[in-house]
Amino acid sequence: MIAHLDADAFFASVEQAADPRLRGRPVAVGSARRGIIASASYEARRFGIHTPMPSARALRLCPSLLLLPGDYEKYERFSRFIFSYPMDVTPFVEISGIDEGYYDLGSDEKGARQQAEVVAKISTAISQRLKISVSQGVATNKLTAQIASKLNKPCGFTVVPPGCEQKFLSPLDISWLPGVGPTLATTLARGGLRRIGQVAAMPEVVLRRVAGGLAPSLIQYATGIDFRPVVPQQDAGAAKSYGAQETFDTDTADEEELRAALRRLVDDAVRRMRAEGHSARTLSVTIRYSDMKEAIRTYSFDEPLDLPEDFYPRAWELLRNAWERRVRLRMIRARLSTIYNSPALPPLLEKERHMKLEALNNAVEAVRARHGRAALIRGHDLHATRGGIQNLPPPKRHQTAASVWREDGSKK
Ligand SMILES: [Mg+2]
Repeated sequence: MIAHLDADAFFASVEQAADPRLRGRPVAVGSARRGIIASASYEARRFGIHTPMPSARALRLCPSLLLLPGDYEKYERFSRFIFSYPMDVTPFVEISGIDEGYYDLGSDEKGARQQAEVVAKISTAISQRLKISVSQGVATNKLTAQIASKLNKPCGFTVVPPGCEQKFLSPLDISWLPGVGPTLATTLARGGLRRIGQVAAMPEVVLRRVAGGLAPSLIQYATGIDFRPVVPQQDAGAAKSYGAQETFDTDTADEEELRAALRRLVDDAVRRMRAEGHSARTLSVTIRYSDMKEAIRTYSFDEPLDLPEDFYPRAWELLRNAWERRVRLRMIRARLSTIYNSPALPPLLEKERHMKLEALNNAVEAVRARHGRAALIRGHDLHATRGGIQNLPPPKRHQTAASVWREDGSKK
């Protein structure tokens, strides 16, 4: 059985756990720079406070709200404490974000009941010792366990017995299925598909007309089948990350070339992270010299970010700092870590710039998802380097990017 653990109102809970005076009171964690609520305690939610909401509005709704600045290092520390509990019972722990993760207790179906008891004990231990409430779901696969953990929050505990996956999923909204975003959900709803059970009953050829290549996996998930394994990390410190690297055909010391390559790597890592709706607080850049020696520099931002433009300047600074010897470089790597399960908060101050960049990135991703990476090229991709544009795959279809842009942009 696989368990999915998901902490409830995580940042606010950590603040309440760390300071008993905050317990039982409406608490929210907001970003000073961004003026947005990042997390609200359940006491605060009773006043209608939710995330992301402007902090000023939250204070109007609840004048006694205790609004705290985010302390992400503290949250990461508590995250490590939380995952140390499942790590006590199995080495197969996959931390998918700061407050979410899976762990695999093995496939002994006769022992399913005992395994559920182990999971329940972990919830109790975390709540008693860390004063953090978590919700957990237990099932034979990741998708079912994840949904089960999120259905009855806070302090939820839902077990889906082996063989009952499809029955459990059937009445739920299709937006629970991986790959079903707001756009696809609307399209499917227009065709009368609102429940997971309806997707399961669909002939694949019919579903293909609306969901395209996603159809087979949607049907599989909808019937309660999910073969994705739990991928363990060695320890909580080495949790999920998104990285990309480029090895140069010829070792280089050309700053223009390196800067362009680094941006492409950041783009690539950020694209995969955004596709999963995540953000990251830590950026590392590794360089490998022509003599194979490596150097790495790491930086943690004040809060999690999710736009490539947020990372470019710091990435270059890290590369410059790492590059201490006057030796050519063979390989560079960019890596995003300390992953948070939600997108970055939109900043209130630079809202307009952020929204433009957000729209730009979504459009670029949509075009590339449909027509391949080379269908749309950013300035730094054009820097025709040895490892650069000629290595990109050709566009899948002969169609100008501009027409696709309009088509996708108008849907948003
Ligand atoms: Mg959570």
